[in-house]
This record gives sequence, C-alpha cells and structure tokens, in this order.
Amino acid sequence: MIVFEDLKVRNLSKSAKGTADNHGKNVKAKSGLNKSILDQGWGMFRQMLEYKQRWSGGDVLAINPRNTSRICLSFSHVSKDNRTTQAKFECVSCRYSANADYVGACNILSVGHTQLAC
Ligand SMILES: [Zn+2]
Repeated sequence: MIVFEDLKVRNLSKSAKGTADNHGKNVKAKSGLNKSILDQGWGMFRQMLEYKQRWSGGDVLAINPRNTSRICLSFSHVSKDNRTTQAKFECVSCRYSANADYVGACNILSVGHTQLAC
C-alpha cells in the first residue's frame, strides 16, 4: 500500500507575485521552489507510481492533506502550534517531539490504513 497526500502540484507551484494592490511575499524564494517542484515532474512521477503499484496488485491512496503535519502521534492532539518550525514537531499538549516529516508520514499512513479499512 502506498499512501500520499493529495497535494495539487498546481497549487504548490502557484506564483507568489500577488496583485498590483497586494504584493506577494518571498516572491523570489517561492519562484525558485516552484521551479524545483516543476523540475521534479511530480505529476508524472505520481502517474507512474500509481500505474506500477496497481499493476502489481497494490493499493494507492491519495488522502486529504488536512492536518497531517499537526496531529500528535501520542494522543492525537491537533494544533497548528504543534509544528514549531518547518523541521520540528512538538505537541503543545503532551510535549511529544519528533522530526516534523516523520510525524507527517506516520499520520498519512494512519489515515491510509483507516481509509482502507472502511
Ligand atoms: Zn501530544
């Protein structure tokens, strides 16, 4: 079983330019990130991954990315404040702490198991 967040590449790579009245923030940095995202060919990668996995009889689930980086692995406390930095997760309720990507991956897998069981 492969589970991933159903992130829209189009949204991830949206321009940060803003409008004439409302100028965007970090436009240059976002522009570089957008180029990196598009260079990786995520859409194509996802298609090939799904094809290969289904061809070999496996499951591929695309789950809603909502709160996957905010749910505590210990007691499921959800808060945006649990994600103190891009890299660090620390639960404001029970103080559980871990790498934020690890926590996100565990939550994505957990949602996948729940969906598959239903
Ligand atoms: Zn907690």
